[in-house]
Amino acid sequence: MENRKRHEALNWASSFLKEKKREPEAGELLLRHVLGDLSRTELLMGLNDPMTEAQRASFEAAVKQHGEGVPVQYITGYEEFYGRRFIVNREVLIPRPETEELVYEVLKRSETRFGDQKEIQTIDVGTGSGAIAITLALENRSLSVSSVDIAAESIEVAKENSWRLGADVRFLHGDLLQPWIEKGEKADIVVSNPPYIPDWEIEGLETIVKDQEPMRALSGGQDGYVFYRRFMEELPQVLKPKAIVAFEVGHDQGQTVAEMLRITFPGADVVTVRDISQKERMVIAEIGFS
Ligand code: GLN
Repeated sequence: MENRKRHEALNWASSFLKEKKREPEAGELLLRHVLGDLSRTELLMGLNDPMTEAQRASFEAAVKQHGEGVPVQYITGYEEFYGRRFIVNREVLIPRPETEELVYEVLKRSETRFGDQKEIQTIDVGTGSGAIAITLALENRSLSVSSVDIAAESIEVAKENSWRLGADVRFLHGDLLQPWIEKGEKADIVVSNPPYIPDWEIEGLETIVKDQEPMRALSGGQDGYVFYRRFMEELPQVLKPKAIVAFEVGHDQGQTVAEMLRITFPGADVVTVRDISQKERMVIAEIGFS
C-alpha cells in the first residue's frame, strides 16, 4: 500500500474489503482506532493529513485481519452498547443491538412493576462482557445487579467493564442459577441472553461469527433449548412471588419459550416482544402481579 494520506488509505481499505466481501465501512472504524481513537469528525477534518509509516503499517495490518474474517470489535477491542463502550475480546460474545432492546424492555417493566422499590434483586445469567448487567445497574440505581458466568475469562472482562464504567455489579462464577441457589437468596428479576443456536444452525453461521466468537456463548445444544429447559427447573427456586423473567431467544424460538414459561409459572403474564427487525426476539414473563 503506497498511500500516505488518510483519504487514500481509506479508499484502499474500502476496495480491499469489498473484494473480501466485508463491509467497506469497517475501514473508517479501523482507521480512527489506529490514529489514536479519533472521533468521526476528527477523522473527517483531517482527511488530507499524511500518515506516519507506523500508522500506515498498523492500519494495513488491521484491515487485512478484518479481511481475513476477524470481527472489527476484536481488532479495536470494544463495542458500543446502550451508548457506552464495552471492552471485548475473544472470550466474550460481541454485544448485539438486539440485546439493547432486551435491556430496554427490562428497564421499562421494572419501573412499572416495582415502582420506587429499592434494591430490586436482579440477576443476569451468562453475562459475557457484562453489557446487560452493567447497563441495567447504571440506568436504574434501584436495581441491585448480580451477574453469573460459567467462564472465569468472561468474568474478568465483565469486571473490567464494570470498573471502567463505574457500575456496582456483583459477579458470581458458576453454572446458570446454581451460585444463586447456593446462596439461598431470592430475586425480583432474572434476565438472560443464553446460548441458543441449535446444532443444525451452527454450521450455517457466517464464519465471522462461527470461527471467531466463543462457541460456549452461541451453542444451545442439539435443539437450541438446552439452557431454557434448565432455567425452567432452576427459576422456581430463586424467584420471589412477584418477579420478572426476560429472555433473548433465537428468531423462531419465541412461542416455544413462552409456552415453557406458561407451564412453569401458571397464571403468569407471558408475552413475546418483536425486535426492530420484526423478529420475536424477546420473551418476558411477569409472574404473580395479577
Ligand atoms: N445473536 C447471536 C448471533 O446471532 C447469538 C447469541 C446467542 O446465542 N445468545 O450470533
